[in-house]
Amino acid sequence: MDQKGILIVVSGFAGTGKGTIMKRLLQKYADNYALSVSMTTRAPRPGEQEGVEYFFTDREAFEKKIAEGGLIEYASYCGNYYGTPREYVKSQMEAGKDVILEIEVQGALQVKEKYPETVLMFVVPPSARTLYERIRGRGTETDEVISARMHRAVEECEYIPGYDYLLVNDDLETCVEQMHHIISSEKMSVARNVAFIEEISSELQEL
Ligand code: ADP
Ligand code: 5GP
Repeated sequence: MDQKGILIVVSGFAGTGKGTIMKRLLQKYADNYALSVSMTTRAPRPGEQEGVEYFFTDREAFEKKIAEGGLIEYASYCGNYYGTPREYVKSQMEAGKDVILEIEVQGALQVKEKYPETVLMFVVPPSARTLYERIRGRGTETDEVISARMHRAVEECEYIPGYDYLLVNDDLETCVEQMHHIISSEKMSVARNVAFIEEISSELQEL
């Protein structure tokens, strides 16, 4: 079946494990998926590399990119801009990859509005306490930043009903497998296979 890639959005509270899940999913299924690299005005964390985790930029360059229409979506999160460059997503989908956007809730809803066939997944930790422990354990943010992100998590709950799937990141491997299964199942939906159905129908008529 010759099908183009689909668009997938993954969101979740800071510290849930989205980055960890993405890394593992891409390690296991490198041929299936492409992960979009966002543009951001936040400063790199220790160990983060330009063009790997993000394209790091300043507000002026980010606003120029918005004005040029170079972003599929963008949002402000805890004082910084984050956005999805259009070009990479387009080319990877055309090449047949399922493209994953790991983005926050406002951007997710913009994508769903523009591209209603997008699959939206929200990843949660097994408990609020676990979330706090994970974000502290990561050790990359100050107490002030952690506090801002925890407050934002409360607001983000309001957006979850707009998503298609809820995943619990308790055991990492289980969560990664569940994500892969959801995407695989979505690709088998009748609505996504109209061209194939038409093709087999006309072939049957010719027989
Ligand atoms: P996010 O990208 O959602 O902000 P990270 O992927 O950076 O979160 O994960 C936050 C912390 O939680 C990291 O230290 C990571 O190693 C840890 N972590 C992620 N998933 C799990 C899991 N399933 N079990 C235990 N720890 C996890
Ligand atoms: P972090 O600073 O922890 O890397 O990311 C903060 C939040 O921004 C996370 O919820 C992450 O999913 C989100 N994010 C990352 N890239 C983008 C993007 O391109 N667009 C939007 N809307 N959110 C993003």
